[in-house]
Amino acid sequence: MRLFGCVCGQFHSTAAGMGMKGGDRRIAAPVPFYVIEHADGVALFDCGLHTDLADAEDPYRQVLQSQGEDVTFAADETVTAHLERLDIDPARVRYVVLSHLHFDHSGGLHQIPNATLVVQRREWEAGFDRDIAARYFLRRRYFDLGHEVQLVDGEHDLFGDGSAVCIPSFGHTPGHQSLRVRNAQGDHILVADACYNGEVVETRAFPSFAKAEAMNASLDRLLAMREPDTTLIFGHDPDQWGEAALLPSARA
Ligand SMILES: [Zn+2]
Repeated sequence: MRLFGCVCGQFHSTAAGMGMKGGDRRIAAPVPFYVIEHADGVALFDCGLHTDLADAEDPYRQVLQSQGEDVTFAADETVTAHLERLDIDPARVRYVVLSHLHFDHSGGLHQIPNATLVVQRREWEAGFDRDIAARYFLRRRYFDLGHEVQLVDGEHDLFGDGSAVCIPSFGHTPGHQSLRVRNAQGDHILVADACYNGEVVETRAFPSFAKAEAMNASLDRLLAMREPDTTLIFGHDPDQWGEAALLPSARA
């Protein structure tokens, strides 16, 4: 079983917007997703941005820009392009485990037609509740595409062998989850947006839309799960990608 880490573009915001020191300083934060190649099938954890967001005229991109944010990505950073380099046909991806329904995690679903989505029940229900979805910026156009959906409540062992286990980490959104992956490469907890980056472990500066108390409790739980060989990979941490990438994005 192999775990790959891929970057689908950059999210542009202020340091403060990502919970980091530096106030209005502009930063670019990676938008990662993960590929798990297991004997029983290929699973993704999140799937990056919708390809429409490459266009500066895209309506949602303009909404982001009006809020002082933006996303950019290159043609070779789409989920399809990454999978092609790994020699994986997007049509044979069996599962997409979604950490949550935000556009930068579910946006690539339109490129993965045959997968079953594995989502926490409370996240999926939030996505279809008009008021809650609006409060948390869950946009149906990105995730309501007719995929099969497997709703889970709490921990879920994806392949039944302990190699990839969903860990509920509510707070960023109502049913946010992380994924713990254990294989010959080590023990990785893919935290996703339960913690944007390493600084947030200290600052505990969470987004204003999120439930801070629940986020604190979730992050404490994830930290407490660490063993000596455990690596936490945060949701959008510039220090964990690029030159310093902790996971391979291609076969060696
Ligand atoms: Zn995110």
